[in-house]
Amino acid sequence: MIDYFKTIFSATSATCQGLWITLKYMFKPSITVQYPTEKLVPYEKFRGALLFDAETCISCNLCVKACPSVCIALENATVPDPKNPALKKKVAKVDWYSIDFGKCNFCRLCEESCPTKPKSVWHSLDYELVFFNRDEMVRCWKAGFSFIGKYWDRKTKEFKAPAGQISIHEVAPRR
Ligand code: SF4
Ligand code: SF4
Repeated sequence: MIDYFKTIFSATSATCQGLWITLKYMFKPSITVQYPTEKLVPYEKFRGALLFDAETCISCNLCVKACPSVCIALENATVPDPKNPALKKKVAKVDWYSIDFGKCNFCRLCEESCPTKPKSVWHSLDYELVFFNRDEMVRCWKAGFSFIGKYWDRKTKEFKAPAGQISIHEVAPRR
């Protein structure tokens, strides 16, 4: 008989403890985020999607040499040589610049090696990188392209804006 009441007492006590914990958390602010309508913004050193600025890049090739994954390629811009217009002279600008996100390991070595101020290639805080096909993995930049860049669609033979990247900066920060 005593054991019977002991069991009832311990079960009731355990239930009350559980309810008490539930009650305490009911009145605390929620820590979950309702993704994707609400998004967390990473801290400053976060290595998100790489961005590039064709205006500030001096085409020095240092990021290409620093990249351990061999995923950066670029082509120097050229102008006609004033002494011999038949020849082309390289200038400190890029004609095009590309990063293969399929190979990139987000190590930041390209950004660290870049000598320009501000950096011409840098990690953003964007973590929403989605690729719908292999073409989208190779991001290209040319003069006039936005920092996010475009990709070359081999089927339609044209540059297209990447659909799988949403700028995290457009969302109100929440830390
Ligand atoms: S983050 Fe690293 S792997 Fe990616 S492009 Fe830069 S240097 Fe290469
Ligand atoms: S992004 Fe920076 S390191 Fe790379 S070529 Fe341009 S200036 Fe040089």
